[in-house]
Amino acid sequence: MSKTLQAIRGMNDILPAQTPAWRYLESTFATLLDGYGYSEIRLPIVEYTELFARGIGEGTDVVDKEMYTFLDRNEESLTLRPEGTAGCVRAVLEHGLNGAGQVQKLWYTGPMFRYEKPQKGRYRQFHQIGVEVFNLNGPDIDAELIALTARLWQQLGLRDAVTLQLNSLGSSEARGRYREALVDYLQARFEQLDEDSQRRLDTNPLRILDSKNAQTQALLVDAPMLADYLDKESQAHFDGLRARLDALGIAYQINPKLVRGLDYYGRTVFEWVTDKLGAQGTVCAGGRYDGLVSQFGGKPTPAVGFAMGIERLVLLLETLELLPPQPQGQADLYFCTFGEPAELAALRLSETLREALPGTRLWLNNGAGSFKSQFKKADKSGARFALVLGEDELARGVVACKPLRGQGEQQTLALDDLAGQLAALLNEI
Ligand code: ATP
Ligand code: MG
Repeated sequence: MSKTLQAIRGMNDILPAQTPAWRYLESTFATLLDGYGYSEIRLPIVEYTELFARGIGEGTDVVDKEMYTFLDRNEESLTLRPEGTAGCVRAVLEHGLNGAGQVQKLWYTGPMFRYEKPQKGRYRQFHQIGVEVFNLNGPDIDAELIALTARLWQQLGLRDAVTLQLNSLGSSEARGRYREALVDYLQARFEQLDEDSQRRLDTNPLRILDSKNAQTQALLVDAPMLADYLDKESQAHFDGLRARLDALGIAYQINPKLVRGLDYYGRTVFEWVTDKLGAQGTVCAGGRYDGLVSQFGGKPTPAVGFAMGIERLVLLLETLELLPPQPQGQADLYFCTFGEPAELAALRLSETLREALPGTRLWLNNGAGSFKSQFKKADKSGARFALVLGEDELARGVVACKPLRGQGEQQTLALDDLAGQLAALLNEI
């Protein structure tokens, strides 16, 4: 017997019952971003491995442990994108979109791939909606990104379900000085660190701040604080961001241990977190990455962005029962036909109606069937009216129209101006 075919672990089908929620989220977001003046960019799913190695940074979990990397037939090392920022920066540079200080406000959506341990809210293929802004260095744009995510929560009904955490990572020099102090402190307590943190002490010590290990966290209580190492400019930038958030009435918690998993961040970092999804609580994360464009060989270009996890947001909307009822998969009109000549006529009529009444959900019965079975399907379709065309109606040049919900008499509609009569019926409440 052949083995049952299965999807790869951690890579999910999004079934018809779930797609309306996805479309709701994606379209809410697209409309919102349009209102703020952001443009969509579509990027490849596969890039040269080097892009991520250089962009995200060796020593990060994503690059060291989570990438789907393979050789193509030409022996080139390619990687399924684990995130969107590196590819977006690559595209901006490649097409000169950041030239002459030009401001770019971009958004994208699509699947990302990370070899992680699959669990609720954590998958190997997952989807993000991301935003990246280039050539703006003031705290006003950081505030705008946070304001537009706050507006999204408001529109989705999630305002009370998420909280904002904020930190500043300072300049790379400030971070360097802090890194030394942190390493000194932790080196002296090496034996008490968990294994992951011991390894990170060499590769990516700031990530230790983010450790989930209780003993490591206890050790960190008296460790040097990043906030004490901030350079003046970063401090002013951070104060500027806080003043704007205060002016907007957007509440936040300063989390001095918020460092983010990817290397390219500096200054502002933020996360929107929920306590309604268990361990996988971060639904949106981002920050400033002023150094990345020049690291890729471009002119120094300040940049800031964020990405949100669609699966986690859908889970959150489901958990809190915030998904609006979806009219999709429901008909307005269901066309029943009896006999081949009627079926042919109905086929033509349906197309005429679709042209005259765009947006009307007209389902034509497929596969013939008895009167009873067709009416059963008509009823299940959710349609308000069944149209009936049989030998008799065909001979008389009419269509019978039977209300399926509530009261009302069956009517006989003449074929000339069928569309007009149906439009009138559908507009009646
Ligand atoms: P986490 O700490 O949860 O692993 P991260 O810091 O690795 O998140 P980012 O790279 O910042 O995540 O990605 C932005 C968002 O994408 C996350 O906040 C989360 O909502 C979502 N996300 C990241 N990894 C996954 C995954 N494996 N499955 C589902 N969603 C994910
Ligand atoms: Mg992660």
